[in-house]
Amino acid sequence: MTEKKDTIPHALYIHIPFCARKCNYCDFNSMVSDAKTIDRYLRALEKELNILQGQYLFQTIYIGGGTPSVLTEFQLEKLLSSVIECIPASEIREYTCEINPGTLTKDKVVLLKDYGVNRVSLGVQSFQQHQLKRLARIHSGDDAREAFALLRMNGFQNINLDLIFGCPEQTLDEWEKDLKAAVELSPEHVSTYALTYEEGTPLALDLKNKVLHKLEEDIELEMYKMAIRYLTRNQFNHYEISNFAKDVYECRHNRVYWENKGYIGIGAGAYSFLHGVRTANEKDVSKYIHGIEENKNINSFAECLPQNQLASETIVMSLRLRQGVLNTDFYERFGYTIEDQFGNQINRLRRYGLVAYEDERLMLTEKGLFVADTVMTEFL
Ligand code: SF4
Repeated sequence: MTEKKDTIPHALYIHIPFCARKCNYCDFNSMVSDAKTIDRYLRALEKELNILQGQYLFQTIYIGGGTPSVLTEFQLEKLLSSVIECIPASEIREYTCEINPGTLTKDKVVLLKDYGVNRVSLGVQSFQQHQLKRLARIHSGDDAREAFALLRMNGFQNINLDLIFGCPEQTLDEWEKDLKAAVELSPEHVSTYALTYEEGTPLALDLKNKVLHKLEEDIELEMYKMAIRYLTRNQFNHYEISNFAKDVYECRHNRVYWENKGYIGIGAGAYSFLHGVRTANEKDVSKYIHGIEENKNINSFAECLPQNQLASETIVMSLRLRQGVLNTDFYERFGYTIEDQFGNQINRLRRYGLVAYEDERLMLTEKGLFVADTVMTEFL
């Protein structure tokens, strides 16, 4: 007997944990690997996709990594065809693939287009050679411009550019140049992230050994404010703490995370969150492949969130959106109002001018936006 299809729209994340080279700040689940391992990994993904087939309604798909574009044309076609065989194209509203500008070819762009990918996220990070070198990126600023042009030429009308600020020795002037270069390309979406020094990365080690120095926090904050000013002045809507979009181009897939709604992740280390239950796949690529090949349970972690924790996480994630959380939506989902659980915190944060209510929405004020991490901890 076939199980009844879950008709609530979900998001599907597909993790490709392979890169051409490891960037020195990266602690993502990614590695440099050989063709044989990648082929086995793609077969494992196909198997996971087959299990999902017909069970869920997916409106967004996001192929991320790692570097999905490090796959050869042949491997990329295998992946894209596995996806489309299992998920009806008619249901998909947004289909994103992450691209590293140093790994894109014309044939890969054509494949992405042919298989229905309609949004690309380009990992530019910076347009300046010395910054890219410092981050150990494999591409140049010109590679990013060329990749963007290639995507445009082949009909991609929804392109995100990822940028990083707060690099060692980076000046406000340099950051403004990066913003300017990004805006000149006229993308639909820009994401800006502050560089973080994750434990175990070469960058963190250099920091520890005083080979480099972290930027002062107030300069980093000034860079963030500059991004908001610069991008909003250029018709980007600042809709999430780190994300800016033109017109209708907000990322639908990531909105599912921010609204703490249901998603399924496949691949090594990918998380899923369905009906209050969070699970994670085995993170180690070999163990993941082996587990799938042997038809074993590949979950390395599972937790069922109690209602109050689910509500806490929903507030924390939703406050990332500039529009905040609508009290009626919250009530519909949890059966009580935001104040019922968080009245004290909200009163305190309102007194300090860090959150506000507008049209029944709880949201961060501009002051709250700049200390968002501190505000969020109040709800945990
Ligand atoms: S390309 Fe992305 S995932 Fe790969 S090492 Fe660099 S930052 Fe990490």
